[in-house]
Amino acid sequence: MSTVSLVRFGGSSADVDRALGLVGAADIVRPGARVLVKPNLHGGPGYTSPRVVEAVCRWAAERGAAEVFVGDGPFWACPADQAREYFRQAGLYAVAEAAGARAVNLHELPYRRLQTDDPALPEEIGLTELLFECDAVINLPLLKTHLNTLVTLGIKNLKGCLRPKDKKRFHELELNAALVGLTRIAAPRLSVTLLDATIAVEGMGPAAGTEVEMGLLAASRDLVAVDSVGCSLAGIDPGEVRAIRDCARLGLGELDLDRITVVGEDPARHRRRFKRPHEQVAEHFPDLEIVTDGACSACAMNLFEALAAIHHEGRRLRVPAVAIGGKGRIWAGLTVGNCAEHAAEAAEYLPGCPPSAAQIREALTRGG
Ligand code: SF4
Repeated sequence: MSTVSLVRFGGSSADVDRALGLVGAADIVRPGARVLVKPNLHGGPGYTSPRVVEAVCRWAAERGAAEVFVGDGPFWACPADQAREYFRQAGLYAVAEAAGARAVNLHELPYRRLQTDDPALPEEIGLTELLFECDAVINLPLLKTHLNTLVTLGIKNLKGCLRPKDKKRFHELELNAALVGLTRIAAPRLSVTLLDATIAVEGMGPAAGTEVEMGLLAASRDLVAVDSVGCSLAGIDPGEVRAIRDCARLGLGELDLDRITVVGEDPARHRRRFKRPHEQVAEHFPDLEIVTDGACSACAMNLFEALAAIHHEGRRLRVPAVAIGGKGRIWAGLTVGNCAEHAAEAAEYLPGCPPSAAQIREALTRGG
């Protein structure tokens, strides 16, 4: 049996203490410890709440941590100045400073190179050195739907620890299998996963979804179990999420909700059915075919942001189909991003890596 705590979050470090204490993780930070807090950050809306990040940093400081890093690495091609802007927009510099922590772009710090023998992974991957150097690692994902993986929770959040070129390789390989391989390597370094379900995201995640107020934190030392409970809060069977299912099969954690004890709040009282990414796209654009196989989050985020803007503006699409990533095919329409150049012979092609949301919006509606 695995245990997951579910508590209401009112904004204080005491809430974090309760969530961690209920799963026996209140002692993961000892006096003098160096701590890595790993939120989910990217360029659009739908990142780990700065209030939660601040409460976690304050909690670690109250436990006597000597140094607390708030670290993430944005999408693989993100320039350093753009990453700094993302950190600023997400409020991470401000809350880290207020709590005596340091917000760091992992892409600007050293990576440890590891040889792998897993066919699902590149032969060598780089993981942030902080993952190995810190005495405690707090995985701090947000509960949200995701175009490529249905949900993004604790397992997917580990991808932010990869060096940039490996992130790109993950999308050229089979993403879900690669996430499982990454979990095998990185999960043993985690002290706990604390899922931010304060303001979750449904629909066109990761960056153009709709906020869902839940006001909750969920914690567990079992990464698969907390992801499974996160799925169930969103009305999604965890067995539908391939990375979670395959991690459970490999014995990396518990997926079966009957074998997970949830302490604190009753999840049944908070459960609701989240809209899935393609459902929301289909609601807004019932005739549009979207192919996303092999795309990384950068193209996915910009495409969804463009579609959300077009819907908001009440404009019409001028193409029947759009493809991002290099693995799918469409027969007519628009292919977006360098990877998708050969996804169609008869389609128009918008180059870029990634093309911006504004460029995609323009290409999808030109003259419309
Ligand atoms: S073209 Fe798009 S999908 Fe391909 S690597 Fe660049 S951002 Fe990712």
